Amino acid sequence: MAISYQQLTNKHPCFALDKKGQTGRIHLPVSPTCNIECKFCDRRINDYENRPGVASTVIKPSEALDAVREALKLCENITVAGIAGPGDTLATGYALETFRLIKTDFPDLIKCMSTNGLLLPEKADEIIETGIDSLTVTVNAVEPEISAQLNGGILYQGVHYTGTEAAEILIENQLEGIKRVSRGGVTLKVNTVLVPGINSGHIEEIARTVSKAGASIYNIIPLIPQHELAACHAPSCVQVDEARQKAEKYIDVFRHCQRCRADAIGIPGEKDYGEQIYLKRISHE
Ligand code: SF4
Ligand code: SF4
Repeated sequence: MAISYQQLTNKHPCFALDKKGQTGRIHLPVSPTCNIECKFCDRRINDYENRPGVASTVIKPSEALDAVREALKLCENITVAGIAGPGDTLATGYALETFRLIKTDFPDLIKCMSTNGLLLPEKADEIIETGIDSLTVTVNAVEPEISAQLNGGILYQGVHYTGTEAAEILIENQLEGIKRVSRGGVTLKVNTVLVPGINSGHIEEIARTVSKAGASIYNIIPLIPQHELAACHAPSCVQVDEARQKAEKYIDVFRHCQRCRADAIGIPGEKDYGEQIYLKRISHE
């Protein structure tokens, strides 16, 4: 039985509602590829950039157990095993395979995964059966015309779709997937990358829609201008705060996101042990 939303607000740092959480997570970078084309996404393998989509290496599911074991020795606050890339967790089978191993060897850890949601309807039952406790879906728009400005295309069932056609499939699958997975008892968080001039006037609509679909908490992440959106501005603190206030009318809002790497380890925003564990593993290869 998955841990409840109420329990997650105390035990998972990314569900803490008031003050910043003091629990930690280990991100296991087992998912190398993606099936959609976010225009702000710049996935990299390196050890110096502090942002989502970056990891110092990609590991195999069988290597994740050792990484968890070492991480728990270094940071006793870790309560969560999470997978957030560097690509999408459902584009390959590695994330769910890893969680099945974690479930057996570390039954007390909260199992948390993030996805773009394209494959959620078809993977919902497997996610529930695997015992995922919390799932984050990144929904950057619920209107195809807005989504198409943020995402170049999708690869779905062997076909490459672009523009609003891609956006319609993506949004439909995200919302249907959120409904199915939340009905199965998994707590849903939705992330939105806030892009001024594109989806900044659309936040209320996203918050209302995903809350109705079954999401419990909402995380608005300021854009890091890069890749095809390099010319856009990052939102100001005032813009982020306004967006959060609008969303809060419909859904709880998480305010302490640190925009972590896909291989981050420790309490978000504090000392990161990722380098110690993953770089050491590379140097041993
Ligand atoms: Fe990048 Fe994530 Fe978007 Fe895939 S879903 S393109 S990994 S930001
Ligand atoms: Fe939590 Fe935000 Fe870091 Fe994800 S990026 S682990 S939601 S703090």
